[in-house]
Parts: sequence; C-alpha cells; structure tokens
Amino acid sequence: MSDLWFDSDKCFINGAWIAPVSGDSLPVEDPSSGQITGAIARGTQADVDAAVHAAENALSGDWGRMTAVERGRILTRIGQLVLTRVDELARIEAQDVGKPLSQARADAVALARYMEFYGGAADKIHGETIPYLDGYTVYTLREPHGVTGHIVPWNYPMQIIGRSVGAALTMGNACVLKPAEEACLTALCFAEIAREAGLPAGALNVVPGLGEEAGAALSSHPGVHHISFTGSVGVGKLIQQAAGENVVPVTLELGGKSPQLVFEDADLDAALPFLVNAGIQNAGQTCSASSRILVHRSRFEEVAGRMATAYANLKVGPAMDDLNVGPLISARQKEIVTGFLEAGRGLEKIGTGQIVSDAPAGGHYVAPALFAPVDAAHGLAQDEIFGPVQVIIPFDDEEDAVRIANGTDFGLVASIWTDSGARQMRLAKRLRSGQVFINNYGAGGGVELPFGGIGKSGHGREKGFEALYGFSTLKTIAAKHG
Ligand code: NAD
Repeated sequence: MSDLWFDSDKCFINGAWIAPVSGDSLPVEDPSSGQITGAIARGTQADVDAAVHAAENALSGDWGRMTAVERGRILTRIGQLVLTRVDELARIEAQDVGKPLSQARADAVALARYMEFYGGAADKIHGETIPYLDGYTVYTLREPHGVTGHIVPWNYPMQIIGRSVGAALTMGNACVLKPAEEACLTALCFAEIAREAGLPAGALNVVPGLGEEAGAALSSHPGVHHISFTGSVGVGKLIQQAAGENVVPVTLELGGKSPQLVFEDADLDAALPFLVNAGIQNAGQTCSASSRILVHRSRFEEVAGRMATAYANLKVGPAMDDLNVGPLISARQKEIVTGFLEAGRGLEKIGTGQIVSDAPAGGHYVAPALFAPVDAAHGLAQDEIFGPVQVIIPFDDEEDAVRIANGTDFGLVASIWTDSGARQMRLAKRLRSGQVFINNYGAGGGVELPFGGIGKSGHGREKGFEALYGFSTLKTIAAKHG
C-alpha cells in the first residue's frame, strides 16, 4: 500500500508505533485481485499486556484528568481531520475490504460523523439528583468503566470503530482496539489521526493480530473492564465466557437474518431499491443485511419479477471500479457463500448479477443470487450467509408474516412496507428485533439511532446516546448533612 502515512506493520501503543513482540507479521490481501499488498503486525499477549498497561497509565494521567469538554473537543477535532482525509481513507478501505469505493467513502464520512456526534455529546451526559430522606442529598455520577476492549470485524471497520471507540472515549475510558486480521488498515489510520488531533498517549491503543491470539488475550485480560465485541455468534459466545471469568460487562453485536415485510398495500416503487440494496450492499457482508424478503401472496409475482430484473442489472467487479457489488473479503468467505449456493440447488434461482469480464481471476467474486419462492424453514432462509444472497418467502396474512419474521434465532433489523398506520404500529411492537423500520430500511444509518440486537443477534446497544450509558457506570452518592 503506497498511500499509508505511518508504519502499518506495527502496533499503536502509548501513542507510538511499536513493532510487535513476536516480530511476526500477517499479510494484507486485496480481495479484488487476491494480491498481497502489504503486512500488518501479528500482535500477541505481550502486546495486549503493553496496550492495557498504557491504557491504565492514561487513565491515571492526562487523559483521566481531562474534563468532558476537553474530551469532546478532541473527538470533534478527530472528526474534522477524518473529513479532510475521506478520499484517502475510502481508497485504503476499498482496497483492504474489497468494498466498492463509494460505499467505503460513505463509511469514512460516517466515522467523521460519529466523532462529531460524540464530541458534541461529551458534556451533555450527566447524573441525577434523587429526592430522599430528610437530611440527605443523593446524586449519581456517570463514570468511565476504565480500560475498554474493542474487538471488531472486517466488514465495516470505520463505522464500528466510530460507534464503539468513539462512545468509549467520550465517556473517558481508555481503549484497546483489536481490529480484524482481514482488514485493519483504517483502524491504524484512525489511531494516527487521533494522535494528530491531540488524543493523549495511551487513551487509544491498537493491537492488530489474529482472533485466537490478540483477540483472546484482550477478551480474557484481567485489566479490561468492559468489552465491546462485534462479530460472529460463535466468537461472541467465547467473548462472553471470557468476560464472565473476569465479571466484566460485555456488549455483543452479532449476526442477523433480517426480514423486510411487504404487504398488499406497499408502495413497491419506494420499496424496491431497499429490498435489493439491503441485500447486496458490501456484497451482503453486513450484519443488518436484509437476506429475507417476506411478501404477501397477492404481490409475490410482482415483487419477484421486479427484483429479478434489478438483479440482472447488478454488476460485480473490483472495488476501485465502484460497481454495485465488490468481491467477498477472502477465499474462505467465498467458500462459505458458495457452500450456501450449493445448498440452494434444489430451489428456483430467479435472479443473478453479472461478474464483469475483466474482473481479476484471483479476486473473490460471487454473483448475487435471488431465490424464490423459498420455504421459511429452509437453511437459506434461516442461516446468516454473509454474501449477496436473498430469498423471497410468500406469506398469507399478518399473523403468518409475524410468525415467519420472528422465526429465526436472530433479531437485529426488520422493516415493514405498508400504508396502513394501524398495521405499522401493531407490527412494530410484535417484531422481535432491535430495530424496526417503517417504509424504509436503515433510515440512512444515522449515528444518532441506538443499534443492537436481541436473541442471537446479541445484547447491549451502540450508537446514539444509548452507547454512552453502556460505556459508563453509575455511581450513587448519598450525603447525610443533618
Ligand atoms: P468473527 O467473529 O470471525 O471476528 C470478529 C473479530 O473477532 C475479529 O477481530 C477476530 O479477529 C476476532 N476473533 C476471532 N476469534 C476470536 C477469539 N477466539 N477471541 C477473541 N477474538 C476473536 O467475525 P467476522 O467474520 O470478522 O465478521 C462477521 C460477523 O460479524 C457476522 O456474523 C456479522 O453479522 C457480524 N457483524 C455484526 C455487526 C453488528 O453490529 N451486529 C456488525 C458487523 C458484523
């Protein structure tokens, strides 16, 4: 990678770029071509120890003494610096993740927006006074947990760092970030930008490395007081166990199988772009991907036909070409998605996108696939695929729609397409989901909107003010003054 402005094969600990103790590195692969473009550090337990130690020192030093206003100003400055580098960050992310350039650019803009939002919120979170017995004054203080661990995946590094590290720093925590081994360059860029913006040494430390090495070391570290994990259900369980050993709180942002419910009175012109885009954005490698489209039987043919036509126009190719769909992150991910497509062989594939003819042979491309009709119990309608694959499931009535929508292990996002206000209100309550969108999907992903799941989609909330409560603890003070 030519346009990096720091040592990308190092850890960022205590405000400095430091070689990992192992001396080992991991390759950086461009998913669009399969070529190795650089190396990152292979951090291990020793680097995590050093990072946690640096974070502890920051808490008892400059960072810990800063007022909320000062913290907010630094976060705001970070956001401003991110904005000056949006194009650069987008190029780095597109090459590292294989994400089409304009989607990567939107992530960089979102990172800046998180910093702006949290920077402004820093001095607006406060405790309460509580009326109590005569002779007492009782109040609460919102305090940081201390050292927070952040383990993030490869699919939206900038957005997830923005929402979790941003909120944790706002509340005065000192962070140790373990980015994903498949895509960690923008995490390192972020650390350098934060340093330039004046974030004191040790307030943010980044240890790249493998999940079972650096990740496991961080999640089980006795010096960590809160863990924010975004990733798969399987690893989420391990993280929760590790946090349980140390009795520390954990936020789990896991997978999904998010439905969109299209009723007989839906405005299909408005719905169609959301029905398709929510399935193929970032090649379907999105926790909130809408992989299930539930359609009232009276509109089934119409929805299936229009979605199939939209699929026929989808172009798949290198991230830098900024087509509709880029490659998957890795050969391994392509293998997983191809396995699901094999499992769908007996189903009717009604839509497919086109891989452009000049896409490099070594890239991890998979043509988007739309299956319909699919039984709600089929594996393709139950399991998180994490690829550009959608299924259409017909339903008979509202009751049937709710049963199908709630009939998976997940509960991250759902959307309802209907003109009926009464139905909107009824279903918004009945759907088992952390977010419900009405006549839209995702509401533009605003940083203000609390986000998180129920069931196997995880627990705890990030984004919005809600995240600031999660990244802080409440102290009650009761003073007796006679
Ligand atoms: P993953 O669970 O394999 O990896 C996520 C992170 O955990 C990586 O940094 C990895 O190195 C680390 N890790 C792996 N093994 C570990 C271990 N034993 N101990 C500690 N850390 C470990 O997930 P992924 O494949 O990178 O991401 C895809 C998953 O993430 C999907 O299930 C997706 O739905 C989910 N996701 C959820 C959200 C959300 O907000 N709910 C957002 C994005 C992605």
